[in-house]
Amino acid sequence: MNIDHKSLIPRTPCTGNYITLDNKKCTLCGRCLIICVMNLWKKRGKTVYLVGDYASQCIECGACYQVCESGAIDFRYPPGGTGIVCERG
Ligand code: SF4
Ligand code: SF4
Repeated sequence: MNIDHKSLIPRTPCTGNYITLDNKKCTLCGRCLIICVMNLWKKRGKTVYLVGDYASQCIECGACYQVCESGAIDFRYPPGGTGIVCERG
């Protein structure tokens, strides 16, 4: 069976940030960039950031939060989820 990006379908849009980053705590280790399967973390110069529309693609796996050893990333499950569900899996 072929599983492609179209299998991730939007449901209820989430409003508000449920992932936040404290750049003062960030050590630029790059773990969040490596672990995010949706490629939503970016690095520009000496700054790491989440793409602006991350909630439309984030699958709420929490991996970025788990791997950030400096505690720079805060993650809370959004009420009702972001609306990303796997149609097949
Ligand atoms: S995992 Fe944490 S400390 Fe490492 S680059 Fe990402 S935000 Fe910064
Ligand atoms: S929760 Fe998962 S998909 Fe969302 S930004 Fe973090 S690592 Fe990426």
